[in-house]
Order: sequence, then C-alpha cells, then structure tokens
Amino acid sequence: MGSSAIGNSENVIIRSVDWTAAEKEALELFQSLVRVDTTNPPGNETAAAELLADFHRARGFAPTLLESAPGRGNLIVRLKGDGTKPPLVLTAHLDVVPAEGDGWKHPPFGAEIHDGYLWGRGAVDMKNMAAMSAVVLHLLKESGAALKRDVIFAAVADEEAGSRWGAKWLVDHHPELVRAEYALGEIGGWTLHFGKVTYYPIQVAEKGTLWGKLRAKGTPGHGSMPREDNAVVRLAKAVSDLGRVRLPQHPSAPVEAMVSALAKEQGFPVGTVLKQVLRPALAPQVLKVMPASVRRGFAALLSNTATPTVLRAGSKTNVIPGVAEAEFDGRLAPGQTKDDLLREIREVVGRDVEIEVVDTTPPVEVPYETELFDALQAAVKRADPTGVPIPYVIPGFTDARAFTKLGIKYYGFAPLQLPREGNLAFTDLYHGNDERAPVEGFKWGLRLLFDAVKTFCET
Ligand SMILES: [Zn+2]
Repeated sequence: MGSSAIGNSENVIIRSVDWTAAEKEALELFQSLVRVDTTNPPGNETAAAELLADFHRARGFAPTLLESAPGRGNLIVRLKGDGTKPPLVLTAHLDVVPAEGDGWKHPPFGAEIHDGYLWGRGAVDMKNMAAMSAVVLHLLKESGAALKRDVIFAAVADEEAGSRWGAKWLVDHHPELVRAEYALGEIGGWTLHFGKVTYYPIQVAEKGTLWGKLRAKGTPGHGSMPREDNAVVRLAKAVSDLGRVRLPQHPSAPVEAMVSALAKEQGFPVGTVLKQVLRPALAPQVLKVMPASVRRGFAALLSNTATPTVLRAGSKTNVIPGVAEAEFDGRLAPGQTKDDLLREIREVVGRDVEIEVVDTTPPVEVPYETELFDALQAAVKRADPTGVPIPYVIPGFTDARAFTKLGIKYYGFAPLQLPREGNLAFTDLYHGNDERAPVEGFKWGLRLLFDAVKTFCET
C-alpha cells in the first residue's frame, strides 16, 4: 500500500486494490497523454486515442476508435456489467487549448514532475480524467467487480472548439455506443478552498448560448458631412449600452442550491451576506463588495449576459458606411430561453439595430436528487471527511450539452485534490500558463473515482 495518507484506509473498496501499482500505471499514462500535443485547432486527438486504445488492448479490452474527420479520434471502451441497470459513462475530452511555451516555467508538453506537480497543458483540463478513467476501468475488470451496469469510457475530440467532431458527433452518429443513464465528466470534483471551508463542487448545470450579431444601417455618404443616421454611431451606442448593462436577475434552482450550500458553511457574516446575492434587490450591493474575479463569476450565473466581442464597419476614412456590425456572445441562465434573452437585448439596444441569431443552445440542467449524486457526495466524504460537496453551475459549456441530448444525467466530476497551501485555484490553472496537477492530488482523485464508480455500479 503506497497510500497510507488517504484518510479512508478502512474503506474495503479502497483496500481491495494494489495502489502502488495502480498509481504508477495511472501516472505513466497521464504523462504519456500530456506529451501528445492535441492542441485544438487542429486537435490531432487520434494520436492520444491510439495511445489509450493500446493501453486497453494490452489489458484485454476491445476498444473502438472512430474518426469523425481525419485526425479527430474518439475512443470508446466498454466494460460489461450484468445489465440489470443502464450504463454509466466516464468521459474526458482529449484536445487541449493552445499553450504559448514562453510563459511556462516547464515545457507545456513535457509532463515533467517538479515540486510535486505534473506540469503541462491538459494537466487539469482534462487528461487527468482520461488517465483516471482508463485505469478505473482496468481496476474494475481486474478486481472482478460485480457490476450491475456497463461502465463506458468515452475519450472524445474537439471539446475546446465546441464538440462538433467529438461528443456531438458521437451522440449524433453513434448514440448506441454512449447511451447511458449517467455520465461523469467536467467540470468539478476538485478542491475549492473558500474561507476555512473545503468544498468539492459537482457540476449540475451550465448556461446556454446565444451567439449573434447586431447590425445598424444608415445612409452612406461623404465623411465631410456628418449625418444623424450614421450606422457606425448607431452601432457604437448599441454596443456600449449592451456592454455596460447588467441584465435582469433570474433565480434558478441550481444557482440557488449552489449559493445556499456555499453560504451555509461560511456562517456569519460571510455566508449571511453571500446568500443575499440571490435577492435581486440586494444583489448589486453584495456583488460590489466581492473581489472582481469572484464577482464576475457570480454575476454571470445570476443573469443572462450578452458580451460584445467583434466589431466590423467601414473601409475608408472619408466614407460613412451604410452598415455596421457587431458580434456578441450571449449566455442563457438556467431556465431561460433564447427568446427571453432576445427580448432583453432588444430593450437595451432599441429599435434602430437589427439582431441576428447565429447559433444557440439551451442551458443544461441536470437533476441532482439522484442516486449517483448521493453516491458522489458520499464518496467525496469518504475521501475527505472535512470536505463539503456542493452542486455547481458554470457560466461556460462542456460536453454535457451533447451527452444530455440522449437523456443522460451528466455531472461534472473529475476529482483532483488541490492543497490549501499556495492557494492554487482550479480556475486559475484551467486554460492558464503553468497548468499543473499535484501528483498526490491526482492519486487521491484516482482512488476517489474508483471508489465512487465501484460502489455505485455494484449497488
Ligand atoms: Zn475541458
């Protein structure tokens, strides 16, 4: 046993495994995966998917590797249960966001271990989950677990560019390979230190999207003679108004549950004040006293948003153009529809500007009064008795958008313990320079994931 410090050594499920060997296997696989450059674009996930396929073939599995497009590999591995209950999917995307080597202390595709951390792009987002899931499948097979459900590992391409060649493609073209009752993927399961409390957020909801354009028209003319219907000026006003406004607050069950759970453990005064952010009349005051990064996060969850991001107008200094255009990135709070946000944008920008919808997906909301959510909470408690699991909502999106289309209940749970010392926050590592995962925290995550999956699938 190489894991005397885990705090759950009485747990029989944990004790059934040779952790020295399992941790070594997982860490080596994790390093190999980080060393495969799967920067998206272009992705090249096939190289990483092949590495995983080899891993599973060598251990007696029959993996399926499917390319959605050249180089865009998706890997599915299934461990059969007795079929009394529907499957559970463990999923991770294999692509990573670009890394600019200059800003890094250690090479982003080196997977070097220094100061107790594995450094590299994908260390927390999310080759750690890919390695853990692969090894959990192996451990379940080896331990002869009496599974009531199939456990499916789906390692997918293209999440960082919107999932078109990954989870979406899989769900649209090969739904039978991933059809399941539940899935575990990103984002959640890591340690969030806030005040004296250690939380473990588990994602249950994410915002929807409404990407669109604002277009102002006017009479074209000579720049020497200003006109009151100048398209550039009309658009600029609309963009400025939209960029400054805080759209109306929309209470939603998952956000209320998350804030209430956070606040409950904080007590007086922090928790008492935090809870007031749920009350639209008091929220502006509460947001004002938060540090900027925290404020942005909470504000994004309480309302729909529409952020102007691209501007386009004119081509010559002395010509007033007839059209000016802006793109905006709109996000829908849980429970909101695209029409709700369009109405809100219309109220801000007025009638002078056209609004065009380019792409939209509804928010994702997964029920969390379920046996799996309970099982995850219990497993977190076994792995860290001081930890507080809480439902978590993110302003961004994940592969949950695709998997939930099949009716799968998808939770963000890719466990990783982050030390309190150094105050390293997951949200800073994620997509940041010097992305890294604590080696001990990764091993902790592996044991927790194994415990949670085995307990749940044997019950
Ligand atoms: Zn990710």
